[in-house]
Amino acid sequence: MATERTFSILKPDATKRNLTGAVNAVIEKAGLRIVGQRRIQMSQAQAEKFYEIHKERPFFGELVTFMTSGPVVVQVLEGENAVAKYREVMGATNPAQAAEGTIRKTFSESVGENTVHGSDSADNAKMEIAQFFQDSDIVG
Ligand code: ADP
Ligand code: MG
Repeated sequence: MATERTFSILKPDATKRNLTGAVNAVIEKAGLRIVGQRRIQMSQAQAEKFYEIHKERPFFGELVTFMTSGPVVVQVLEGENAVAKYREVMGATNPAQAAEGTIRKTFSESVGENTVHGSDSADNAKMEIAQFFQDSDIVG
């Protein structure tokens, strides 16, 4: 398996509770390298575009409100099998169902405010990275 990249967001519940360093420690301990990182305030338009796939879901409005409720940290993570590995490190969407030791089990308080986003495929990772990063801002 070759080295690949995935896209990560530390969501507003993480920045609000001052947990970005603690979450990054879990990411780095798992062998994923943070090769791009920026703290931003997401606009409503950016959040709607990012989560467009969920626009018919009942929680879409709540999700966009949450993602724009405070700063987020957007990241590019690099490593062997990074997409699948980060999904494993994050844990299940609902923290109540997440495995011990995962980011969501350790830090998240609800299925909506679940601390992290990670791409679900290599193709989506490329598109998501392109929404928030220029190539020159990723240094591997
Ligand atoms: P994941 O982030 O694990 O890939 P999904 O792609 O299914 O999960 O959902 C995107 C995001 O939408 C979740 O991370 C979570 O913030 C929010 N979400 C998902 N399901 C619900 C729900 N039932 N109620 C509220 N928010 C939800
Ligand atoms: Mg998803």
